[in-house]
Amino acid sequence: MIKGYGEKLDKLYQEIRYNNSKKQNIRLKNICTTNPEILTLKNNIKILSFQLMKSPNSNNSNQLKLKINEIRSKIKNILNDLNLPENYLDTIYTCSLCNDTGYILTQKCSCLISNLTKLYLKESELKLSIINNNFENFNFSFYSDDIIKNSTISPSTNIKNIYANILTYIKTFKTNKLNLLFNGECGSGKTFMTHCIAKDLLDSGYSVLYKTSEDLFTELFNYSNNKIVNRFNESINDSFLIQCDLLIIDDLGTENQNKLYPSIFFNFINKKLFLNKKMIISTNFTLRDLQQTYSDRIFSRIIGNFKVYNFFVHEDIRIQQKQIKR
Ligand SMILES: [Zn+2]
Repeated sequence: MIKGYGEKLDKLYQEIRYNNSKKQNIRLKNICTTNPEILTLKNNIKILSFQLMKSPNSNNSNQLKLKINEIRSKIKNILNDLNLPENYLDTIYTCSLCNDTGYILTQKCSCLISNLTKLYLKESELKLSIINNNFENFNFSFYSDDIIKNSTISPSTNIKNIYANILTYIKTFKTNKLNLLFNGECGSGKTFMTHCIAKDLLDSGYSVLYKTSEDLFTELFNYSNNKIVNRFNESINDSFLIQCDLLIIDDLGTENQNKLYPSIFFNFINKKLFLNKKMIISTNFTLRDLQQTYSDRIFSRIIGNFKVYNFFVHEDIRIQQKQIKR
């Protein structure tokens, strides 16, 4: 888990528990206005339970248990008369699996993963609408069966291969060390695929950050100039940019050029590779374009450490979508 997120989650669970105990107190208070004896009964249970806890194996422990059960059924009868459920005055839990602790023994509870996802999603810069781009909506019909010039396979076979490999990538995300480079022309489905991956990984509790190339370079530039880049004013090493489980860089090559960018980008890529923090880069550039645009050392880092997937279609998917809508 990324630094700072543990604290955010602790705070969230404290709040959940506080709100539930407030709710429970209000219930008790309301019932006590008409049935004040409930308060005495509840207090007696507390005292007896404490005695039982102190000496669970004493001679009168059975007697204590009997007494506690007796009082419990008295409370139950009162609640029955009020047409309220038996557990109406019990501790309220939002998640009964982990009793609002977030953990079942040492394992993360499903509620914790879902809360963590919500926190990550806030930071990931993926808009909720984008999250609708997921594998369930993946449309293979945009990729035709006809083989394109200069290619040995059809767009359809190609995308099916990529799709299968990506599913394996996601399944083995925890252990694999793969960085991916998606290249191909505009409208060949690269960005859609990155959204699908982001959605699946976020749902599994991984932290995913999505950046357009332009935003990434601006942010890196600000870090290198010691400008305040986020409200925590954290160093780049502690930043979400470095620490997230997956960074997606969309549209590499579309950023405005700046003579300092190549060395800043090289250091950044190196840091991520050194820390085994995974990246996916999408770009309209061919490998040759990349080599010409960035320095040789950046190019060799990418070629040496990224698995390349080439996306291609007969016709821009966005144009195909427009034709369908007509
Ligand atoms: Zn839970």
